[in-house]
Amino acid sequence: MSLSNGRSYLAIPGPSVIPDEVLRAMHRPSPNIYEGELVETTHSIIPDLKYVAKTAKNVAIYIANGHGAWEAALANMVDDGDDVLVAATGRFAHGWADMAHRLGVSSEILEFGNQSPLDAGAIEKALRRDTNKKIKAILITHVDTSTSVKNDIVAVRHAIDAVDHPSLLAVDCIASLGCDDFEMDAWGVDVMVAGCQKGLMVPPGLSFVYFSNKAKEMQKKLSRVSSYWDWTPRIAPEIYYEYFCGTAPVHHIYGLRKALDMIKREGLEAIFQRHERHARALWAAVECWGRNGGTMQMNIKDPTHRSRAVTALSIGAPDGTRLRRWVEENAGLTLGIGLGMNSEADPNADGFFRIGHMGHVNAQMIMGLIGTIETGLCALRIPHGSSAVEAAATTLASSF
Ligand SMILES: *Cc1c(COP(=O)(O)O)cnc(C)c1O
Repeated sequence: MSLSNGRSYLAIPGPSVIPDEVLRAMHRPSPNIYEGELVETTHSIIPDLKYVAKTAKNVAIYIANGHGAWEAALANMVDDGDDVLVAATGRFAHGWADMAHRLGVSSEILEFGNQSPLDAGAIEKALRRDTNKKIKAILITHVDTSTSVKNDIVAVRHAIDAVDHPSLLAVDCIASLGCDDFEMDAWGVDVMVAGCQKGLMVPPGLSFVYFSNKAKEMQKKLSRVSSYWDWTPRIAPEIYYEYFCGTAPVHHIYGLRKALDMIKREGLEAIFQRHERHARALWAAVECWGRNGGTMQMNIKDPTHRSRAVTALSIGAPDGTRLRRWVEENAGLTLGIGLGMNSEADPNADGFFRIGHMGHVNAQMIMGLIGTIETGLCALRIPHGSSAVEAAATTLASSF
């Protein structure tokens, strides 16, 4: 018997749940792509994208996923032969560093492991060693989606300023934008990359590279920038097609317009609060499951360094995979795989899983998710402490 028929919940850290309103906005024939409504709608998206990142600077849109945004940012920041400094707090920073490597850029990787935030002091030391100022950019993730750690961006800004190093500060906010507070201008971020399929609730296909005026000036000194990735025409297109260096992503523009309307309607601060409360309810449940012989543990111990939109958990192999399979097959709930957690003892990371609670998620979905995981733990006879659902309910109720 399966109880999975009904509306399913894809609780993975991207793509996130797509609102019906966004899907409906996309379900339409293409308009004229040369003038009129589509052009006006595209113009209208730019200030709202800046609102979400709390910036008055620049934003270029690419028809790409997050990896495309990584490459776009690099193409506009570094020449081959340059250096970048990478603070790795999980799989994603390594992905960005690999991409830099393939572009002929050498990266120094500061490794902080899979359970800790970055240490800005180590970044400061690395910058002090760079007396020839070869490091052109510092690449960090705001939230690393594999470990669910959230890094302190302001501390990194202070470290750069303490050394008076000219490097650009580049931040991956793909998993955090629209979920966790991020303040591009106030925090002194030069380049920020994001995608549309996580906090912004749109199907994968658009990504964004935000950049400061300093980054814009430094880009002009590069020996070459490929015409497709060049951000310059994209922020000041003389002809509409220059926004996207070709045909516009017509339906994504309508979807994103609707998603941004929803974000503005709710308000950014209210959205952060909603994510905060849901995250706290989930953490309260996990704490209970981990008691009395239960093995489930939060991957990131310190709540201040946890994402509010994705939670990485360990439970011991093979129960992570067993639990994921059970809730998907029997209850219509899909959880995320353990990413980058492979070890010799657990080569397929079967002892880990992740929960995406980003974007278009409300309290009944969070409570359904927690109750469903509890059901899976019971059905599979995985040892766990009791009262998780009650703890989550109490946590949510106390926020009123
Ligand atoms: C999802 C994600 C990416 C990769 O995005 P894709 O759209 O899969 O290319 C990169 N960085 C972070 C932090 C992410 O969460």
